[in-house]
Amino acid sequence: MITDQYGRRFEKLRVSLINDCNFACVYCVGEETGIGGKKFIGSLSPEFSVEKGSEKLRTDDFMQLISAMHAILSLKSIRLTGGEPLLYGELIPLIRQIKALGIDDIRMTTNAFYLKGKVNDLIAAGLQAINISVDAIDPVIFARMSRNNHTERVFEGINEAVKSGIEIKLNAVVLRNQNDSQIIPLLEYSAERNIPIRYLELMKMGPIFNQQKDLFYPESEILDTIRSKYDIQELPRKNGATSRYWETNTGAKFGIIANESTPFCHDCNRLRMDSRGYFYGCLSNANGIRLTEFINDWPQLIGKLEELLAMKQKLKFQGSILSMRNIGG
Ligand code: SAM
Ligand code: SF4
Repeated sequence: MITDQYGRRFEKLRVSLINDCNFACVYCVGEETGIGGKKFIGSLSPEFSVEKGSEKLRTDDFMQLISAMHAILSLKSIRLTGGEPLLYGELIPLIRQIKALGIDDIRMTTNAFYLKGKVNDLIAAGLQAINISVDAIDPVIFARMSRNNHTERVFEGINEAVKSGIEIKLNAVVLRNQNDSQIIPLLEYSAERNIPIRYLELMKMGPIFNQQKDLFYPESEILDTIRSKYDIQELPRKNGATSRYWETNTGAKFGIIANESTPFCHDCNRLRMDSRGYFYGCLSNANGIRLTEFINDWPQLIGKLEELLAMKQKLKFQGSILSMRNIGG
């Protein structure tokens, strides 16, 4: 068993299947040529230049690495993410193969733009739960946040997922003066559908690494905004969970992932892998280790996993030049 001095172990694996995305959320993607050849504003770190895409893994490569990780770590769950995981062409066969390994808890984080028409196939393949990123209900604000003008498709995807009965959570990153007006509308939208929503404090990563201060909207203000309309009560936190949860007097459940205000590094159990086969022990450390070359050498592989575990912060996320689009969130 690989455990660090604080008793932390890798139990959950997040796999970024692809670093392409059809959105270019302002906090995630800087200036670059995205799908459709659009130019976006902001700065681009060399760390996530587009050429890296040439090292992309195929489904067999992903499976080889996931199998080895499961054999060594007895993974409790896998989250498929990206970039946008629904752009990964072999998503359904990949989910089937992960399930065949004996991992039942398979989850996905998606912007849901391409979800409509796919939910039942995803469930049949073995997907257990979907986190959907929605930063606004107002279409103009959503378009500004995601740099995509057709966000109504996201809500069609959510409707289909709700009908299917699959476990769903919504995620919203809150930015000051950008979408903070959406905190209550998002809460009410999710409550009407009986879906928990989590608000995310902005993390200093990728394009906003050096310029997030004006945009940062803390947990305390998210709570004050909700308290301006509802009475709220905190619910107990589960071990290893990224969010704390509250319930309103009307029964709506919401969470906050507050990396800055209420850090949760002390019991972090996550290991991350990007679409090039690089593994990351901590979001604060942009130096991934490529494990593909050690796949048949277990003592080396275990040594590398120990190195990765030692990268975890003791207390608090420190920021990273890596974009979430590459590492997967
Ligand atoms: N494209 C998918 C999506 O948006 O759900 C999956 C990948 S995305 C990188 C995963 C999550 O990371 C999303 O919920 C997104 O809002 C969040 N995220 C990206 N950049 C972030 C940042 N700088 N701070 C906080 N959350 C961020
Ligand atoms: Fe794409 Fe997700 Fe990043 Fe938005 S947060 S640009 S949807 S990867």
